[in-house]
Amino acid sequence: MSFDFQISTRGENGRARTGLIKTPHGEIKTPAFIPVGTKATVKSTLPDSIASLGAQAVLANAYHLYLQPGSATLDSAGGLGKFMNWNGPTFTDSGGFQVMSLGAGFKKVIDMQGDSPDEMISSNKERLAEVDEEGVTFKSHLDGSIHRFTPEISMQVQHEIGADIIFAFDELTTLYHDKRYQEESLERTRRWAIRCLDEHKRLTIERKDHPYQALFGVLQGAHYEDLRRKAARDLGEMSSSGITFDGFGIGGAIEKSRLGEIVGWVVDELPESKPRHLLGIGEPTDLFEGVENGADTFDCVAPTREARTSAVYSNSGRFNVSGGSYRKDFNPIESSCECYTCKNYSRAYLNHLFRSKEILGPTLATIHNVHFIVNLVSQMRSAIEADEFKEFKDAFLGNYSRSN
Ligand SMILES: [Zn+2]
Repeated sequence: MSFDFQISTRGENGRARTGLIKTPHGEIKTPAFIPVGTKATVKSTLPDSIASLGAQAVLANAYHLYLQPGSATLDSAGGLGKFMNWNGPTFTDSGGFQVMSLGAGFKKVIDMQGDSPDEMISSNKERLAEVDEEGVTFKSHLDGSIHRFTPEISMQVQHEIGADIIFAFDELTTLYHDKRYQEESLERTRRWAIRCLDEHKRLTIERKDHPYQALFGVLQGAHYEDLRRKAARDLGEMSSSGITFDGFGIGGAIEKSRLGEIVGWVVDELPESKPRHLLGIGEPTDLFEGVENGADTFDCVAPTREARTSAVYSNSGRFNVSGGSYRKDFNPIESSCECYTCKNYSRAYLNHLFRSKEILGPTLATIHNVHFIVNLVSQMRSAIEADEFKEFKDAFLGNYSRSN
């Protein structure tokens, strides 16, 4: 077995920490932001660029790769990393989030100030997935064909895809499910977690000529403290077929304003020696909350998705580089940024690329945004090591929030 996690430094408040994850395809210094390459590509960007901007791993999506090109194709290619020409560590999420959310229209992080609850509930009428005890039946968002995921199928798909870190299959709920449903769902996710361990063990033996894959359990429980703590205790202690989870994913709909609090509950209950991944979180403010409360790794489509719409990050906040005021602005996106884009191109040039719909626009903006977020989390790691996390957080967010 070649998966390991060692804690290097503990921060001043007792939760923030730095560490090192070892996988068969390389190491990840934590805390770390993991860019998302949903369909085995970080959209518009070469793997070489992603590696040279400082990313240590990429996360792909089991649901999307199962539908197209099919996990057997990735298996034949020698696994996700080989298929996409990425030499470093890889993650896949279980597909649980996508089978239950695509078509349902709710967001991963629900900002209570932003969306009207009525709209969110009504959009659930078009839900394309049905959950039962055994698994989930869902309609493909590509062609409407009917498919079924169970914990066993998710493990089989993720073993064929072959990422170094894979996630247990869980049921995703929304903040608008009542507590009773959250409790029922959490119990189902607990039973599914046992089935994931059993199937993962079986597949690990059956495919022992393949590199070891680490399995992370996924913790749900919405914004309920008792449910979140219970989920963390249940999965933290869980053992089946003689194995335990190698790490944990913190998932589900999370009210943005309570992110740090929720991560803190879970972290207090989990075994300290195993890594914790905060699923779907990547905005600067949220990353500080996550790291401060003990999360080790993060993934999110935001930096890449926003880049493709010309929204770019700077130390003073996010702005839209296609806006009229940047037409003759020959400064880089962020003057202190050391990415390839900022070292070689101006805001005016990016403005021109986006306005003329040139493909290079999204590519250069993606390189900058991913570097910005990867580097921000890497700076948090240095700040923890120097025992200056709080100072770094206050300085960054003081400047960042002023313009937003
Ligand atoms: Zn840059």
